[in-house]
Amino acid sequence: MSDQPAPQPADLVARLRATFATGRTKPLAWRTGQLEALRRLLTERGEELAAALHADLGKSRQEAYRTEIDFTVREIDHTLEHLAGWLQPQPVPVPERLSPAAAHTVQDPLGVVLVIAPWNYPVQLLLAPVVGALAAGNCVVAKPSELAPATSRAVAGLLPRYLDRDAVAVVEGAVAETTDLLAQRFDHVFYTGNGKVGRIVMRAAAEHLTPVTLELGGKSPVFVDRGTDLDVVAARLAAAKFMNAGQTCVAPDYVLTDPATARELESALVRAVAALYGEDAALSPQYGRIVNERHFDRLTGLLGSGRTVTGGAHDRAARYIAPTVLAEVAAGSPVMSEEIFGPILPLVEVAGLDEAIAFIRDRDKPLALYAFTESDTTRERLTRETSSGALAFGLPVAHLTVSDLPFGGVGESGMGSYHGRYSLEAFSHRKAVLDKPLA
Ligand code: NAD
Repeated sequence: MSDQPAPQPADLVARLRATFATGRTKPLAWRTGQLEALRRLLTERGEELAAALHADLGKSRQEAYRTEIDFTVREIDHTLEHLAGWLQPQPVPVPERLSPAAAHTVQDPLGVVLVIAPWNYPVQLLLAPVVGALAAGNCVVAKPSELAPATSRAVAGLLPRYLDRDAVAVVEGAVAETTDLLAQRFDHVFYTGNGKVGRIVMRAAAEHLTPVTLELGGKSPVFVDRGTDLDVVAARLAAAKFMNAGQTCVAPDYVLTDPATARELESALVRAVAALYGEDAALSPQYGRIVNERHFDRLTGLLGSGRTVTGGAHDRAARYIAPTVLAEVAAGSPVMSEEIFGPILPLVEVAGLDEAIAFIRDRDKPLALYAFTESDTTRERLTRETSSGALAFGLPVAHLTVSDLPFGGVGESGMGSYHGRYSLEAFSHRKAVLDKPLA
């Protein structure tokens, strides 16, 4: 951490607000300079971050780069490439009765914003929003998760060495520190985490009429249609589900499929898991660990549902839970009652598409809905008849690597979105400008 005692939240926000008031964060050159500095941090100090991610989550170096460090670098590169264009005033037509006149919109920075991150992708989920906040010309307070302490420490140590210290601050801490921060007036609060805390964040923000982005979670379903190549399905499903030991907000949570397909999918998943992590995932350097004992205990409590097809082994001291597939899981069983957020994949049987759609619509709107199908009708029906943050056919999770797609939830899975130009939108005010000549 820094060599000085942490300032009081009110003083910290006042200092950043004073910086914002000078106008220094507004020019494109300051914004791109900060993004380039953040890019340097990620490339020069990638190994430190990867080591911290390994300490917190047993994340392999390869996965740390792919899903966190390089991911954020790509987000920066995309933003640097397009930012000047995104910031161009957007002309809009003026109605005839006002003519002659011109109208356009400009993107105004908001001021001082707060980014609160969770522990599961503690680099990406803190820094990707920071990219958007800086691109939009704001000052930022970044609050990493205390549940990934090594990464929190690393980020808190590194950010001030690379970024404008008068405009960007890291505040480490848990509930008490976050509560103190949330008592301050920010111009936007960007929160990623669970819906219970999302409500606390929104309530605190309401006191100041501060807008919020809530990136939440929930159970993201997968529909597997009849007649698909189940080896391909299983390989893509297992890779997406068991990455980061299932602790991914858009991880496939459960599978809906018909009984015959389920039987075949079971064996395909056994092969897919073995191909990814060998016969014993405990020995694979590619396989992660559960973040802490509390989550480990919660997850092992879900293992009793259905019939275990593969996995089930666990070791509390190592916070290890094997990649697990459960078959014939009842809709009312414990594993189906909450977001799993761990390496357990239940297969739930439905008669077909109609029942799958009804099942999905009966529950909270998910952050992502996935489907494997060869049928255009199925694709169209899922698109039209369900609501989710994202809908992906053929490949789970990867939609969030498409920088031009908005990433965010709907209903219980959140509000607002980011990535690419959507991050700029999230952290700016689109100001309406009308210009009518005096003569
Ligand atoms: P977490 O426990 O790390 O909490 C997130 C943040 O909230 C932390 O910075 C923490 O300090 C803060 N916090 C916790 N309790 C608080 C309180 N009472 N008041 C104020 N702040 C508080 O992470 P988590 O919530 O366990 O994260 C997992 C959840 O996040 C899952 O539901 C997952 O699906 C969701 N998630 C969503 C996304 C997304 O992009 N939509 C990404 C990752 C995780």
